[in-house]
Amino acid sequence: MGMSRRQFLQGGALAAAGVAISGKPGEASVDSPVTRIKGLKASTTICPFCAVGCGLLVHTKNGKVINIEGDPQHPINQGALCSKGSSLFQVAVNEKRLQKVMYRAPGSDRFEEKSWDWALDKIALRMKETRDRTFKVSELNKKDNKEYVVNRTDGMAFFGGAGLDNEECYLWSKFSRAMGVGQLEHQARL
Ligand code: SF4
Repeated sequence: MGMSRRQFLQGGALAAAGVAISGKPGEASVDSPVTRIKGLKASTTICPFCAVGCGLLVHTKNGKVINIEGDPQHPINQGALCSKGSSLFQVAVNEKRLQKVMYRAPGSDRFEEKSWDWALDKIALRMKETRDRTFKVSELNKKDNKEYVVNRTDGMAFFGGAGLDNEECYLWSKFSRAMGVGQLEHQARL
């Protein structure tokens, strides 16, 4: 049986009125949380952005991230997320996100693709070269005009991130001090 546009709209209005009166829609809307995550695997994790440590639910299907949202069971955020945490899906699934090493040599006008091993070796070599070139065993204190042992380099700085846990922070600061780096900071303070 055919249905005119007017009959269709009238039927929709009646159905909406019925739902409004009873408060019980016959079927879940496609936008309802239950339908949106139906059949997906839920895993818990922690937001990597800051030390508040909000809990997240990551929904996946066949290993692919489909949805990320605040974990309502988590004692810290109870399902809520700030604007940074709410944007996490775009961090996990984003065709514009760089996932390989792109290197621009000094003086060059173009980037070249490199391997992760190449990048790590390059960073280690440059750190070693910078430390050797800038390391100071002692320094003159202008206030009393005396020379003091400092054993440090001002040629580089270390920068920690909020995604590091206690043990990683400990190792990071130990490594920094062992290198003679005095300028050690944390991303969330800047
Ligand atoms: S960045 Fe926002 S969502 Fe993430 S842990 Fe911090 S407050 Fe929570």
